[in-house]
Amino acid sequence: MSTLQEKINQTIVDVIDFPKEGIVYKDITPLFLNPELSDEIVDAFVEKAKGKVDIVCGIESRGFLYGIQIAQKLKVPFVLIRKAGKLPPPTISQSYDLEYGQATIEVNSNYIKDGARVLIHDDVLATGGTAEACAKLVEKCGGKTTQFSFIVDLTFLNGKDKLTSFTTDIVTLTEY
Ligand code: AMP
Repeated sequence: MSTLQEKINQTIVDVIDFPKEGIVYKDITPLFLNPELSDEIVDAFVEKAKGKVDIVCGIESRGFLYGIQIAQKLKVPFVLIRKAGKLPPPTISQSYDLEYGQATIEVNSNYIKDGARVLIHDDVLATGGTAEACAKLVEKCGGKTTQFSFIVDLTFLNGKDKLTSFTTDIVTLTEY
């Protein structure tokens, strides 16, 4: 019988040179064609987060997909972290550097209570810049990131290095 990691690896599709030359894009959308596998994935994340978090924050947009399911199963609130300009006020924002230029993310400033233990969830950990910005945003709101979780870690980009100052509890289901 295959392990969860093997099943995920067999399902994710590598798309070469997308969205630009030299990038191997990990297409996770085939996971959602398989409800049994998706259940297993959500359960694996829930098992790791049980009793440890008060809020799940999902990163737009693929972090919403399993993120809200994890929150529902943990019976804790789910909060959307979105690109600038998508959420109505009141919001708090955080900017961060991209390879070329800058990006800004936002969250509703009332949703993360002081001292809340936050799980930040996304599909793929690449350079870690986005997740790091989310953890800074959570901090600005008075919360504390106590776990990160990702389906995939692209380990050759060393994304975890940007996150360990927030927490060393970084859950990944498969690595490349
Ligand atoms: P990061 O470099 O960690 O800030 O990644 C930025 C965002 O781009 C993350 O939300 C990932 O979901 C996505 N991403 C980065 N690299 C890839 C890749 N090779 N395949 C799929 N998604 C990616």
